Amino acid sequence: MNRFTKPLLMSVALGAAILSPARAEIDVPRLKPMIEKSVEVDYPRLDALYKDIHAHPEVAFQEVKTAAKLAAEMRALGFEVTEKVGKTGLVAIYKNGDGPTIMVRTELDALPMEEKTGLAYASHEKTVWNGQDTFVAHSCGHDIHMASWVGTAKTLLGLKDQWQGTLMFIAQPAEETVSGAKAMLADGLFTRFKKPDFGFALHDGAFAYGHVSYRVGIGSSNSDSLEITFHGHGGHGARPERTVDPVMMAARFIVDVQSVISREKDPTEFGVVSIGAIQGGTAENIIPDKVLLRGTIRTFKPEVRAKMLAGIERTAKAVAAMSDAPAPDIRITEGAKAVINDPEVVATAATALKAAFGDKFRPSPPLTPSEDFSEFVNAGVPSMFFNIGVYEPERVAAARNGTGPELPSNHSPQFAPVPKPTIETGVEAMTLAVISAFDQHARGK
Ligand SMILES: [Zn+2]
Ligand SMILES: [Zn+2]
Repeated sequence: MNRFTKPLLMSVALGAAILSPARAEIDVPRLKPMIEKSVEVDYPRLDALYKDIHAHPEVAFQEVKTAAKLAAEMRALGFEVTEKVGKTGLVAIYKNGDGPTIMVRTELDALPMEEKTGLAYASHEKTVWNGQDTFVAHSCGHDIHMASWVGTAKTLLGLKDQWQGTLMFIAQPAEETVSGAKAMLADGLFTRFKKPDFGFALHDGAFAYGHVSYRVGIGSSNSDSLEITFHGHGGHGARPERTVDPVMMAARFIVDVQSVISREKDPTEFGVVSIGAIQGGTAENIIPDKVLLRGTIRTFKPEVRAKMLAGIERTAKAVAAMSDAPAPDIRITEGAKAVINDPEVVATAATALKAAFGDKFRPSPPLTPSEDFSEFVNAGVPSMFFNIGVYEPERVAAARNGTGPELPSNHSPQFAPVPKPTIETGVEAMTLAVISAFDQHARGK
């Protein structure tokens, strides 16, 4: 090696840490058409399942009918199914000789919102949520995940001479409230059943179908919710000198807390605090006794999170002190933690997925929404969480170059994946990821 070739070789070696061709042991060119054939044959059934689930969505911890549909599908395939794990969750196990246990997770829940896609199979369902009547819709695409999950199970069983070990397919309730994963773990997911050696999950998003994106390391954000009550002393709006004004404190806090982001946090690190609700006061001429603020805090790294929480608390206390008011009540509730993808699991799966999808398989920056799949990862399951696109590539290109409308994202009432290519990609990518993990293990890492 001379000094001129060295930098080139080094850059190849860096790439190889993620995508080493030496690891591409599974025969993707041979497997891919087999998987495609299996999905093609099975698609009419998956399409019917998808549209049925889409038209009949259920919100967090109410997913009784949805779970029953999946349980029936998995039993028909020969899985051993346990229902009501973590209230409405289910666990489906299939043993195929000696080998690792691999977990594949789907969510079950939909959102308390009205669907406005106008699709023939659109949801018109309603439910009671937090004491209020609401429409329900699968506007996050968890129905796509469920159809892909069933399709993956079917495909893996059709290819069971290609792998050895145990499939642990879990359907998790209440992802949207980031409480379903915790509920399943608390109900003995990893004690009543064997703790899996690896885990996989996918999520759809508003990019081109046929495309798969992934991340090494941090894949989604830490989410904490913030609630602050500023206590003042109410009185007449014309006599502020006789009051301690909590509206003033709230206003000051909302502005000043942003300096925690801009002046205290490392500007190269992700961190956001957004105040989404202010409650206080009744009339224009009455200074109220208190004002309540609610917000969300999002970060990727624990050290950034700790710094932000400290800064937020200090700012709230200082703002109250400036008004000579009592200390505010500050409540920070931990939501989901960041999903950290395991480099080994990702490297193995990425080799197979790159071979199958070529340029349509790409790394992407971490996403700022949160996801409670992190609970399983943090319970000690090395995992990979990846994303699949849902829209026609031409529409995505037009939206990107400004010649077409913006495409509705997850949680939009217009979110409308194109089912067939999206589900097919989900099944193909997940099947290859699982087989590659079995294979990696069989070769002793
Ligand atoms: Zn969602
Ligand atoms: Zn979701």
